[in-house]
Amino acid sequence: MPEETGPGPRTVRAPRGTARSAKGWPQEAALRMLHNNLDPDVAEHPDRLVVYGGTGRAARDWPSFDRITAVLGDLGDDETLLVQSGRPVGVLTTHEWAPRVLIANANLVGDWSNWEEFRRLEGLGLTMYGQMTAGSWIYIGTQGILQGTYETFGAVAAERFGGSLAGTLTLTAGLGGMGGAQPLAVTMNGGTALVVECDATRIERRVAQGYLDEAADSLDDALRRAERARRERRAVSIGVQANAADAVPELLRRGARLDVVTDQTSAHDPLAYLPSGVGVADWRDYAARAPEEFTRRARASMAAHVEAMVGFADAGAEVFDYGNALRDEARTAGYARAFDYPGFVPAYIRPLFCQGKGPFRWAALSGDPADIARTDRAVLDLFGDDDHLARWIRMAGERVSHQGLPARICWLGQGERAAAGQRFNELVASGEISAPLAIGRDHLDTGSVASPYRETESMADGSDAVADWPLLNALVNTASGASWVSIHHGGGVGIGRSLHAGQVSVADGTDLAARKLARVLANDPATGVIRHADAGYGQAEEAAREHGIRLPMHED
Ligand code: NAD
Repeated sequence: MPEETGPGPRTVRAPRGTARSAKGWPQEAALRMLHNNLDPDVAEHPDRLVVYGGTGRAARDWPSFDRITAVLGDLGDDETLLVQSGRPVGVLTTHEWAPRVLIANANLVGDWSNWEEFRRLEGLGLTMYGQMTAGSWIYIGTQGILQGTYETFGAVAAERFGGSLAGTLTLTAGLGGMGGAQPLAVTMNGGTALVVECDATRIERRVAQGYLDEAADSLDDALRRAERARRERRAVSIGVQANAADAVPELLRRGARLDVVTDQTSAHDPLAYLPSGVGVADWRDYAARAPEEFTRRARASMAAHVEAMVGFADAGAEVFDYGNALRDEARTAGYARAFDYPGFVPAYIRPLFCQGKGPFRWAALSGDPADIARTDRAVLDLFGDDDHLARWIRMAGERVSHQGLPARICWLGQGERAAAGQRFNELVASGEISAPLAIGRDHLDTGSVASPYRETESMADGSDAVADWPLLNALVNTASGASWVSIHHGGGVGIGRSLHAGQVSVADGTDLAARKLARVLANDPATGVIRHADAGYGQAEEAAREHGIRLPMHED
């Protein structure tokens, strides 16, 4: 239950412990994970129900949050709550294999799929931006993106720098909910990081959390420290307060020698990217007062930012887009070479997607970190032969502090996810883990997203914008026994640019959970293997053969 009740903003945290107040653990899990998303240690702006990623919300408004909480509190094992863009709109009689919650967030008809229309509807209180795991209640704080970022920088190191970032300097920007993971992901891979962020409070927060090592006083100071650390091959991260649209071109002008350049400001939403010449203190008022003018200025700044990134690519740096639509906004502003550097998925992640590999995560509903330590050991027992995975699990255990309910993430592929799910359910059944686990994932996964500037950029068959796949993924998870399933629009890269789906399934130690988990955790990644095989990726066809996934168009 929330710590306080009332109609407006208040502090909420997930209930903990082994006793539930809801009728079943799937309902209790949804209730705890919704609250957990808004825990002040987890969410970026909990008072506004914003979890991460600009304005990604967990519920439409506080009255909706209260009604969702109330319904989950007495929802039957044969009932399903419908959530339309963060607002509970209906409860239907279904059956015990059906999800307890079905969620659709921010979806709009094609011709209306733009920020202007979205904001108009949002202003009328008719919709909500759900990002990916904000509106689907499986955000676990910065660890989620840390793991994905660790994977990405690991792949950059493998491809370009002989397996380690030691002795290299990475420049990036943005230390928000997602971007805050970048400095630690770089140092975990052995490199030096220089991170530009316009909001000093974000820098302080990441230093306090141990994700960022140092804060510099000025760009000069930052560059001096970063160059020294690179020379000495020290894995150190340095943050500096500046506008990226000024700092990145300035570093190019100075001829700074950078090895890797990327960006994770919230460029998916022009109102969430601070234009050059605007102070942080004036940001929100200005964006609300004159959104069109603000957008124009933000886009012009993004064009300057991207032009400098292209300059670094021309100078030989490894430059990639980190999934925030910065290139598209720069192109809209008239910068013709905006797409001269690739997105991170085609560059590094797609081979993993072909094997059904993606971000598998779980949270301990007990609130007890010992439960996560036990699952870490289980993962090492199951997959300890995989050095990259084992290194992550060990480092995460040592260096990642839990935010909200203790949680873990690692990338697992077809077959592995189902094996982990079964093992976790056995551990709950035997009492080795004190309360059930919520097992879910980001929507940034192999079969669950259509996003032509990110996950489905440059598909081999040109099917980047075909959005049937995430819809099939959500239907498959609904048909397979997931505890809650969501279909969202606009996550990651913004309104009009993506459709994606999520699922969360609860391991409560029962036989029914074991049967549901076996299906969901096999079928969910299988939709990704199928999607990539259908697009012509040989690696995915191989994965399908290996795991017995039928592909009718490939059968004689
Ligand atoms: P956020 O809103 O929490 O943080 C964005 C940060 O950028 C803020 O701290 C803000 O102060 C800073 N910023 C904005 N304009 C700036 C400027 N001009 N110069 C310097 N700093 C500036 O957003 P987030 O959750 O960190 O997400 C960042 C972006 O990454 C979003 O666009 C999101 O959609 C995208 N994203 C990418 C992935 C991925 O896997 N690659 C995953 C999720 C989200």
